[in-house]
Amino acid sequence: MKRIALMYHDIVAAKDFASSGFAGADADIYKLEAARFSEHLKAISDEKIAAVSAFEPESESANIFITFDDGGRGAIEHAAGILEKHGWRGHFFIATDRIGMDGFVNEDEIKELDARGHIIGSHSASHPLRFSSIGRGKMLDEWRTSRSILSEILQKEIRIASVPGGHFSNEVAETAEESGIEVLFNSEPVADVYSVGKCRIFGRYTIKQNTSAAEAAAISRGDLAPRLRQFALWNAKKAAKKAGGEAYVTIREKIFNRKGRK
Ligand SMILES: [Zn+2]
Repeated sequence: MKRIALMYHDIVAAKDFASSGFAGADADIYKLEAARFSEHLKAISDEKIAAVSAFEPESESANIFITFDDGGRGAIEHAAGILEKHGWRGHFFIATDRIGMDGFVNEDEIKELDARGHIIGSHSASHPLRFSSIGRGKMLDEWRTSRSILSEILQKEIRIASVPGGHFSNEVAETAEESGIEVLFNSEPVADVYSVGKCRIFGRYTIKQNTSAAEAAAISRGDLAPRLRQFALWNAKKAAKKAGGEAYVTIREKIFNRKGRK
């Protein structure tokens, strides 16, 4: 089975990249201005493609999943409202250690997103950047902690998650499944869906600050060219990460864990 999912992060007001999510130039690359996000949705909608929930059964009509990582405030300030104009709902994956912190949604806002019909999921608790290397025990802990925090806030079982940092392995999926996750999005740019135990694993295509509406629509349509480009880039990066090892991760961790915002 093939499904297309788009991976967004933060949606922000014009030039206000520091207002939502993780701080720093490295994170800003993945943030979209609200006007650009509106253009994306219009272009996707013009293709007669709808954004649906990953829990909805497959249907004949063309549809995709729109997902947002990290839990930045842009979810409530921009993303949800723009999706709703099309009658669509998004998947918002929250790194629970950040709830209520500067730039991130708080408990009431998570409740509001849920009440408006959006899907709330875990993005781990502490957002480890090299999730696949933290060991089975810690993985389980990250999934269980974040899942129980969100389940407590929303007073219902949270069964969906996305993997932080892009590092994925079978163990990441197995531990998510063991903690009760039934739908897991990673960052592999693929459309093939498979299962690990009772958990379904979906890949996602990355959307960046300068991704055009035409490209977002082409990916949503299932066009091969933009998807193969991402796949090639992904594999090149994977090889670089392997070769660079610790150095690569240390720099990323410094950027992501930086306290304070500009
Ligand atoms: Zn993330």
